[in-house]
Amino acid sequence: MVVLTQLVFLGLPWLTWNGRPALLFDLEARRFYVFAWILWPQDLIYLVGLLVAAALALFLFTAVAGRLWCGYACPQTVYTEMFLAIERWTEGDRHARMRLDAAPWGSGKLARKIAKHLLWGTLAVITGVSFVGYFTPMRELLHALATFSLGPWETFWIAFYAFATYANAGWLREQICKTMCPYARFQSALIDSDSLIIAYDSGRGEPRGARSRQADPRTLGLGDCVDCTLCVQVCPTGIDIRHGLQNECIGCAACIDACHTVMDKLGYARGLIRYTTARGLGTGGGWRGMLEHLLRPRVVAYSVLLIGTLAAIAVSLTGRPSVAVDALRDRGTLAALSAAGVENTYQLLITNRTERTIGFTVSASGLPQLHVDSEVPSHWLPAAAQSRVPVRLVLPHAQAAQLAPGAYPVTFTVHADAETVHASATFLLQR
Ligand code: SF4
Ligand code: SF4
Repeated sequence: MVVLTQLVFLGLPWLTWNGRPALLFDLEARRFYVFAWILWPQDLIYLVGLLVAAALALFLFTAVAGRLWCGYACPQTVYTEMFLAIERWTEGDRHARMRLDAAPWGSGKLARKIAKHLLWGTLAVITGVSFVGYFTPMRELLHALATFSLGPWETFWIAFYAFATYANAGWLREQICKTMCPYARFQSALIDSDSLIIAYDSGRGEPRGARSRQADPRTLGLGDCVDCTLCVQVCPTGIDIRHGLQNECIGCAACIDACHTVMDKLGYARGLIRYTTARGLGTGGGWRGMLEHLLRPRVVAYSVLLIGTLAAIAVSLTGRPSVAVDALRDRGTLAALSAAGVENTYQLLITNRTERTIGFTVSASGLPQLHVDSEVPSHWLPAAAQSRVPVRLVLPHAQAAQLAPGAYPVTFTVHADAETVHASATFLLQR
């Protein structure tokens, strides 16, 4: 999962689509490029939809599989794992590190510490650059980096994100999970007795105690736990899983791996610490029993809501017109009289959501003989561009004379390529 998540995170900013970055959040231009789609501030609803889908997915996966996200995909876990690997590589295993820390300062200790922090810093800077690569095209960013011409915001965010990575994964580590992450606080409300958890089988392990490899634990009155505390030593959040499920457990399964090696050495069956459910642990049921309880009301409800939300986003995105139109009244003038009739002035905010230049014409309806009197009858809009088009609507005097003063709803119709898009507005009549 470390490799997979890093491939995704580091690789996405390099992908191209139609000659531009496939994924780019261009905040300055207020445009988000997401593969084939170009999203504008008016498309904020899709972001809301995605956030709702992400929350529902988190609820669903937690109900089914506990803290799978925390243990396998959360950036905090992934980066801590990478920083730990660097630490092991430069300073050795836990015992070697404790010896190194207790040893007086000398050239060897200094070299190991400097190497560790240099590698941590390099990884943190790569992470910071990659993060900013989602907001500035990666190739431009690297060119600016190489020529020392980075902008102030890019410099700030690279430094900020690199520092956050270095501090969180190098120093704070599990403290983030234990004291700052809100997910740990409310996960207990999301799981039930059929959710997958990592648990110690106390019925099999207790009473715990040391014994020789040849001894039969039953004749000694012991369970299978030899009380080696390896499961506690490898736990990134420093808890003892033998005390039961705790908020601090991030579901990383490091204790399972550690206990498996102990069981293998003793010739005992694996699974003293294992993936199970609270119900499975109580009844001693295996995977089959757990799967039988998979389809529960909350799992079905979350699944239906998640699929519905994703389907609605997909249908809306694929079916949305290539042009978006907003009609804004000219606030400077309410209504004016001219030789042609009563005039109202508007600004049409027209967005070209495609990556090709499109031509469009504007017409209006809603009142008899209402017509557009703009100077340019048809317009061109460059690819992925937004334009404010001034438009004057005219209602002939004879027609206006038959209507009472007031505000009348009218509709602008924009014909672009083979599509027709409407925008509502009001037409003011005054005496
Ligand atoms: S108790 Fe086990 S699964 Fe939970 S955080 Fe510690 S090592 Fe990971
Ligand atoms: S690693 Fe296994 S045997 Fe060792 S203390 Fe933990 S549960 Fe007991």
